[in-house]
Amino acid sequence: MAYLNRLREWRARGTAWRDHLMLGCLLCRSRTPGGLCQPCREKVCASMAPSVRRCPRCAGRLSECGLAPCPDCSQIDPALLRVVAAFDYDWPGELLIQALKLRGQFSCAPVLAGLLAARCGALQCEPDTWVTAVPAGRQALIRRGFNPAGEIGRALAARLGLAWRPGLLTRVEEGPEQKSLGRRERRDQVRGLYRCRADVTGRHLLVVDDVMTTGSTLSAIAEALQAQGASAVWAAVVARTPARSQPRAHGG
Ligand SMILES: [Zn+2]
Ligand SMILES: [Zn+2]
Repeated sequence: MAYLNRLREWRARGTAWRDHLMLGCLLCRSRTPGGLCQPCREKVCASMAPSVRRCPRCAGRLSECGLAPCPDCSQIDPALLRVVAAFDYDWPGELLIQALKLRGQFSCAPVLAGLLAARCGALQCEPDTWVTAVPAGRQALIRRGFNPAGEIGRALAARLGLAWRPGLLTRVEEGPEQKSLGRRERRDQVRGLYRCRADVTGRHLLVVDDVMTTGSTLSAIAEALQAQGASAVWAAVVARTPARSQPRAHGG
């Protein structure tokens, strides 16, 4: 099985190199260096316009009227200090995430990491911050042969000049599908699902994921890291699922 996964990974990496050499925009195929042309880049990141009200803690979109509290933080109370996101999980940015996750188009990972790196300045990470990624479930790993969050995390760490620590976390058991569960049920379900066996005493950590839905997964990870002594845990996610489309995308 490990051999097959390795083979699949190398084939996907070969595809990534081919995409890279084509110098085409990943969305519109116009010739451009860097994976995304400027108009497509603006379209992907349009949801992060300063005019859109967001929760300063979890980067979730808030109601226009400004009266309702953040629906996720008020129910989950995440253990994270702060979350940054590159865009809302919506068209056309979702196409890049799907290309990476569903088709193994590895050339999307550095492009997504680039969009995310532009948001990480808000975190003001110390230079000795470690970057890690949400570990994939066993079934997903067998199916895909790689961890999309890990690919983005590695590229993000390189961009930010921070240390990449992929093996900090393990997922101890498979959780059932979360798509039909409410926020509180998701939180209770993923608590204790993640373990950190490394000594991270006094460390600042940045946890990377591809899609954040309610924040229950990242909060459970922050709790696991804090239990091992981490002094601060932030999260950087490529896409934040807007509340109106909660069950669409991802586990947590
Ligand atoms: Zn384009
Ligand atoms: Zn929030």
